[in-house]
Amino acid sequence: MKQINHIIGGNEIASTSGRTSEVYNPATGEVTATVGLASVEEVDSAVAAAKEAFETWGTTSIAKRTAIMYRFRDLVDKHAKDFAALLTAEHGKVLSDSLGEVNRGLENIEYACGLAEHLKGSFSQEASTGIDVYSVRQPLGVVAGITPFNFPAMVPMWMYPNAIAAGNTFVLKPSEKDPSVNLLAAELLDKAGLPGGVFNIVQGDKVAVDRLLEHPDVMAVSFVGSTPIARYVYTTGTDNGKRVQALGGAKNHMVVLPDADIGLAADAAVSAGYGSAGERCMAISVIVAVGSAADPLIEAISQRIPDLAVGDGTDPASQMGPLITKEHRDRVASFVTNAPAEGATVIVDGTEQKFDGDGFFLAPSLLDNVTPGMACYDQEIFGPVLGVVRVDTYEKAVKMIADNPWGNGTAIFTRDGGAARQFQVDVDAGMVGINVPVPVPVSYYSFGGWGDSIFGDSPAYGPDGMRFYTKAKVVTSRWPDPATSSIDLGFPQNV
Ligand code: NAD
Repeated sequence: MKQINHIIGGNEIASTSGRTSEVYNPATGEVTATVGLASVEEVDSAVAAAKEAFETWGTTSIAKRTAIMYRFRDLVDKHAKDFAALLTAEHGKVLSDSLGEVNRGLENIEYACGLAEHLKGSFSQEASTGIDVYSVRQPLGVVAGITPFNFPAMVPMWMYPNAIAAGNTFVLKPSEKDPSVNLLAAELLDKAGLPGGVFNIVQGDKVAVDRLLEHPDVMAVSFVGSTPIARYVYTTGTDNGKRVQALGGAKNHMVVLPDADIGLAADAAVSAGYGSAGERCMAISVIVAVGSAADPLIEAISQRIPDLAVGDGTDPASQMGPLITKEHRDRVASFVTNAPAEGATVIVDGTEQKFDGDGFFLAPSLLDNVTPGMACYDQEIFGPVLGVVRVDTYEKAVKMIADNPWGNGTAIFTRDGGAARQFQVDVDAGMVGINVPVPVPVSYYSFGGWGDSIFGDSPAYGPDGMRFYTKAKVVTSRWPDPATSSIDLGFPQNV
């Protein structure tokens, strides 16, 4: 059985904690590996390796760091298919989707390659007579990343490329459900010339997370995962004096106005609702159909669902793979099974489709007459279930989104430019799509929802990511002539 290990100080280290977790191929239900779950001591040794590496990495020249990032970028690009194969084997998403994930991760490495530009300070000559003022950004030291199962390659790439480029050293605690892909990243960083100890991986669970949150040498924590854990990580990390960015779950609404192109909106809803089996924090899970849009839209979506090919992600014919675990598949199915008792109408029941073998498959479902207060509306389902809420006005659609505790992504489908612009102004969500159902920002903007989709005030990656991983220093400098020096006890004034 394959054993998935830590990477500490540039070396692969097997856990000796005696605690392990099983990694599955979700398409077959088979256990393919075991992952050793870190003890407190193992986390401590990863942090110690990172701390030691920071001694030299933190002052390594911009030129040398840039060269390593460029080499890493090229290696990831060259090995994109290897990343995708590992992703599909442990996460289950179809290979084309896995490749998409790698390419969106690659964008973040490309952004980090521009570190020379991103880390530039500013300079004000003669801010006061004979005085210059300038700012610099310096790395924090050891920073940690804790990541979810659903984007096992990309979400870590939201973090470590910027963190490392900025001169920090990094300890990654990936999801224990699909951890292999980051070992390939570690291998390629090593090949790119990154010194050992700059990028470390501790495999683990709550024990590892809790140790990172309290370790005095961890300066900052980036977290992406579900809302309850994001809240916990933010509270615990900040209580321990750390800088924390914690991105949580989501319930993303797609508003369809009556004037929208229904075919285009249906294509978008199906793609964004069922892509990656709905296991995306930017998946559309609620369609808010305004007025007369509802009936034709539901008709168009239900016509498209039977054509979707659900199967093993390694089969090029598959469009949607399995869910991550059997437990998660059963939980998602329960929202569909319980929907009628809550008053929703099941238009397409994915739980009826049976699959050969023991994979964690669940076919797409479509619910109508969903309303707030139903579990299928109030909870994050994180599976291939689309719910349609009918409202009679645009204002009610916007209010529903504002009243929802999450505020990650949202989208509007319309042919009316004025309505779309008004939506962009009115809507309570951090990332907005106009006829774009999954508006994940490009890497040179930053990613962050509102409300319970984020804790802390720092979105991930892009300019905000670079700021998160650096601290600002402002220098006020004077080179006076000692001959004119005198004592002045007054508060310094700019003249
Ligand atoms: P999760 O919260 O269960 O796990 C995330 C990480 O936290 C993992 O590394 C896990 O090991 C760790 N963890 C789990 N339970 C813990 C506990 N009790 N104490 C400390 N650490 C713990 O999330 P998941 O199921 O892996 O991922 C899916 C969730 O992530 C969904 O809610 C999804 O919306 C969210 N997500 C959000 C974003 C975003 O950008 N906002 C992106 C991707 C995923």
